[in-house]
Amino acid sequence: MSVALQKLNAMTVDVEDYFHVAAFEKQIQPGDWDSLIPRVDLNTRRLLDLFDQHQAKSTFFFLGWVAEKFPDLVKEVQRRGHEVASHGYAHTKVHQQTPAEFRADASKAKDMLEQLTGQPVVGYRAPSFSINKQSEWAFEILKELGHGYSSSTYPVKHDLYGVPDWPQQPYLRPEGLLEIPMPTLVMHGKQLPIAGGGYFRLMPYWLSSRLISKFLQEDKMPYMFYFHPWEIDPAQPRVQGAGLKSRFRHYVNLNRMENKLAALLTQFNWGSLEQVYQSELQNSQ
Ligand SMILES: [Zn+2]
Repeated sequence: MSVALQKLNAMTVDVEDYFHVAAFEKQIQPGDWDSLIPRVDLNTRRLLDLFDQHQAKSTFFFLGWVAEKFPDLVKEVQRRGHEVASHGYAHTKVHQQTPAEFRADASKAKDMLEQLTGQPVVGYRAPSFSINKQSEWAFEILKELGHGYSSSTYPVKHDLYGVPDWPQQPYLRPEGLLEIPMPTLVMHGKQLPIAGGGYFRLMPYWLSSRLISKFLQEDKMPYMFYFHPWEIDPAQPRVQGAGLKSRFRHYVNLNRMENKLAALLTQFNWGSLEQVYQSELQNSQ
């Protein structure tokens, strides 16, 4: 195995349920969440077992709403040696909030997670990578709240998110916050999103593996993968009335995800973002 493949890469999980996703926001409102049967607790516990089997560590970006419902789950993630980070409280896109609303949401999630873990929560990831040029003020607020890094930008062209001309490498923001963008691979002049989620479910494993290996050979930054607990749950209830594209993106190959994840965990080495960027985080303080 080459040296590049032995590097520690960052595993990240956005801990939310199938009914929190932006793809179904027209069908399911936040007011409906309490009436739906949650599956995030059991799915995340299955992931914890899978990670243990492969000695993998991960960052878990918890939605505050999930932490409130399942405080023991947050504690269990911490007990098993993973990093607990914040995905905000109510999964509202940053650019749909005023700065004051954003501050209240991010602060509520951070306080809740810190009370449960007794540790400072360093990391933050915006719902749907929704920090863009209209909501760049969010970085200042995250820094003021005491976050050390954010992983909230995806430098690609996409219909739902992304700022293609923002940095493709981790960088220290002028506000003093480390921003760790989702990894992209430049091929034929295009920036391809290769960080996981729906693309990983859609592509055959050999292709994902080849793209990640190519990324690592370029040796610019550690690779980072992201996905959600509902992606290993083919038995989740089907949301009625969503468009074809949303349904396809959400449901494609759910039954294959767990095996593909196991292959990914076997092939590469995985740590939390706090582990992978330890020295950068110390320098930014
Ligand atoms: Zn999310």
